[in-house]
Amino acid sequence: VRKPLVAGNWKMNGSIALLNEFSGYFADKREFDCERVICPPSVFISTANTLMKPLGFAVAGQDVSALDEGAHTGDLSATMMAEAGCQYTIVGHSERRTDHNESNQLIADKAKALLAAGVIPISCVGEPLEVREQGQEQAFVADQLSALFSTVDLNELAQVVIAYEPIWAIGTGVTASPEQAQDMHAFIRSAIAAISADAAARIRLLYGGSVKPSNAEELFSQTDIDGGLIGGASLKPEDFAAICQAA
Ligand code: 13P
Repeated sequence: VRKPLVAGNWKMNGSIALLNEFSGYFADKREFDCERVICPPSVFISTANTLMKPLGFAVAGQDVSALDEGAHTGDLSATMMAEAGCQYTIVGHSERRTDHNESNQLIADKAKALLAAGVIPISCVGEPLEVREQGQEQAFVADQLSALFSTVDLNELAQVVIAYEPIWAIGTGVTASPEQAQDMHAFIRSAIAAISADAAARIRLLYGGSVKPSNAEELFSQTDIDGGLIGGASLKPEDFAAICQAA
């Protein structure tokens, strides 16, 4: 029922040259079962649309403002993301939570603004290492999600994509084990089921954190893992293709 999704978060990496490399590499590769998304830096969204949409990729932003419009230099609204051709946009990545002090409520407001504009939020959660060492990771993630659940309309919740990215696994080469990832995904799905069984059955939950071609298949084969949010490996076309193939 749930179509697998693999999204490549380029973060503050890449270039028009890299998008050209991707479009060349994927030009003759169309046979994928999953939905594929590229999240380039926002200045390259238009180029990504031109080059990657014809090859079956959706294009996504990495962040958005929660506000509609106005005097907010440097920010981009949800309607702008929609007009720019983004089908998805990431909100609440741990790097934005850290670099820009984003709160759970702000991130929930961003997700709500995106839904209102017809853009699907990819909303990120995940605990730091010290929280996992204390065995508090489920409580920590539940707290991150509670603002989302109370802010987004219940009938829109199933559209949201939630990405579980344990901070200790991001960019470290240390991947969560398939069991650790599955346990958290099952926990997230059960938390959603407590609100809506229908939303829990339909919502897509992605795993992120050092996903690579060598571990993608085992992670994606877990019951509650519906794909991945890929950082470093999404910058190499052959690695990203192999990860998409695994979904
Ligand atoms: P890595 O795949 O580089 O660990 O990054 C994961 C991530 O943060 C994707 O959003």
